[in-house]
Amino acid sequence: PLTPEAGEAIAAIATPVGVGALAIVRMSGRGVLEIADRVFRKKGGTAFSFKEAEGFSAHFGTLSDSRGMVDEVIALVFRAPSSFTMEDMVEFTCHGGPVVVRHLLQALLDSGCRLAEPGEFTRRAFLSGRIDLLQAEAIGEMIHARTESAFRTAVTQMQGNLSRHLQEMRAGLLQSCALLELELDFSEDDVEFQSRDALRLEVGRLQGEILRLVESYREGHLLTEGVATVIAGRPNAGKSTLLNALLGHERAIVSHMPGTTRDYIEECFIHEKTMFRLTDTAGLRESDEAVEHEGIKRSYRKISEADLMLYMIDSSSGDFLKEAAAARELRQRHPESGMIVVANKTDLAPDAGGMIAQLQSETACPVIAMAASKGDGLNELKSTMAGMVEGLDKLHEASVLVTSLRHYEALRNAADSLDNALQLISAREPAELIAFELRSALDYVGEITGKVVSEELLNTIFDQFCIGK
Ligand code: GDP
Ligand code: ZN
Repeated sequence: PLTPEAGEAIAAIATPVGVGALAIVRMSGRGVLEIADRVFRKKGGTAFSFKEAEGFSAHFGTLSDSRGMVDEVIALVFRAPSSFTMEDMVEFTCHGGPVVVRHLLQALLDSGCRLAEPGEFTRRAFLSGRIDLLQAEAIGEMIHARTESAFRTAVTQMQGNLSRHLQEMRAGLLQSCALLELELDFSEDDVEFQSRDALRLEVGRLQGEILRLVESYREGHLLTEGVATVIAGRPNAGKSTLLNALLGHERAIVSHMPGTTRDYIEECFIHEKTMFRLTDTAGLRESDEAVEHEGIKRSYRKISEADLMLYMIDSSSGDFLKEAAAARELRQRHPESGMIVVANKTDLAPDAGGMIAQLQSETACPVIAMAASKGDGLNELKSTMAGMVEGLDKLHEASVLVTSLRHYEALRNAADSLDNALQLISAREPAELIAFELRSALDYVGEITGKVVSEELLNTIFDQFCIGK
């Protein structure tokens, strides 16, 4: 249930665990001012109570538990509703030692707070209506952003650009919906409060806007999730060796036995502002072994989800034309993903030049000559990879952008509902049926901002936050 009332008092460490100059422990909810009074003595001996303290005031003093003083702290007071959660909040800034911080937290827990769950502060900010779900998610993405552009995108979303855009679309849908539903009350006569032609135009316009957002996900998700890159190719082509070379350290197990990369490994690296999520796949070949079969199935799924495929060929093996055909076939099966052909082990193939040219014309893909185990060709490969997603780091400058799978799916569903509505309008079906489809589109859009939202969805979103956020 969505309740605007203050929740029970919660406390958590808000800063990373470890040694630092300062750390922050914070509390929010009913009774936190009383709890603060129990553990805090203001310097100077003056009578002081948090209950009389003004919002945004800071107080210097000592914090104690049952055994005595824990630390000298600054207490920052936020009075409802002018706080992150819109509840009363107190933040203690203390010295940043892990033991100090633990003691301080324990003192608050002993005095009547419960330990906050992951994301619980942000969840309260959402439940109280201070931020919508999109903005709550953006906070999480901003914290975890690993590239400048992911960070910028999150900041834009946090400021509510996408939220406002969705709100406008919801308002448009609601308007049309309301007029249709009004007709239902006049079922005797044949009234139309909005002509069907005007309705079709309006619904078509809204669907167009939604589809534009849906489309923006194709590149938008690369910003926050990174470019999903799979290294595919036959066993022993050198895939694991390349993965290690790209990551710059030994990760995947490299072995001489074909088919040893049983499962897939996923790791990230950042090159020229772009994050790549790399997956090494189990060798693509028929196998009787059950374990390997499972791995191969998973490989194909990974490939189908990839934004970029690196197809690796052992240029010393002699059957590169067969390999070129395999690469071409893979490319045709996943036309949405980019492909780079990597001709590996050129150190063992002295006359690779002719082969490279032939591979290029056979596959119509960029071909990079490499000796992965020596690092030859690595830089060229990296810049070719970066070139495939050129302009990505400028993308966040577009005003509204969909970067999350959850939002993308909700928008797709909304667009489908509007598609149904448009067909019903053209077929001059009754207002009731059209209104039903518009309502369902409204619900899908509302799911994104949290207007229409289940407890389960909230749990999955906020469980990904850290404690203290
Ligand atoms: P995977 O099965 O495709 O993952 O292949 P691996 O990365 O496990 O490599 C298979 C074998 O080829 C290993 O012994 C590697 O050391 C070797 N290898 C990888 N790249 C090169 C290369 O560029 N030149 C040579 N000569 N050997 C390589
Ligand atoms: Zn491997």
